[in-house]
Amino acid sequence: MSMEALYQDIILDHYKNPRNFRKLDHIPEDQVFENPSCGDSLKLEVKIENGIIQSVSHESSGCAISVSSASMMTALLSGKTVAEAQNIVARFLAAFRGEVEGIPEEYDDLLALEGVIKYPLRVKCATLAWHALDTILKSQS
Ligand code: ZN
Repeated sequence: MSMEALYQDIILDHYKNPRNFRKLDHIPEDQVFENPSCGDSLKLEVKIENGIIQSVSHESSGCAISVSSASMMTALLSGKTVAEAQNIVARFLAAFRGEVEGIPEEYDDLLALEGVIKYPLRVKCATLAWHALDTILKSQS
């Protein structure tokens, strides 16, 4: 199996079985994050205790890239400190802006999204959840 096919499988797995996905009906419409160019939308709930992210839940809809990216993000960041999470978010977004080369291997499934960096139209799909988390963490600190 080629790496590309493997990555496609990882993305589809997260899309079909998104981790940490649940209905977040209590989050108001004005706190929904959207990527209008593709039709992706996302609600995000972050629970923080003593500076540690206890859980990140999302309610995502849209394309496979946006949903799988949100799923991968929530899986990676649960249990991290807020500072660690902010570093990872900054590093991920820098990769998608082309400021640093690629996605670090320790980000696990996220490597599967690396191919998206080449497609400017899909970058917003891959980064929607990350910008949302960045916004939420900044508003809480
Ligand atoms: Zn999309």
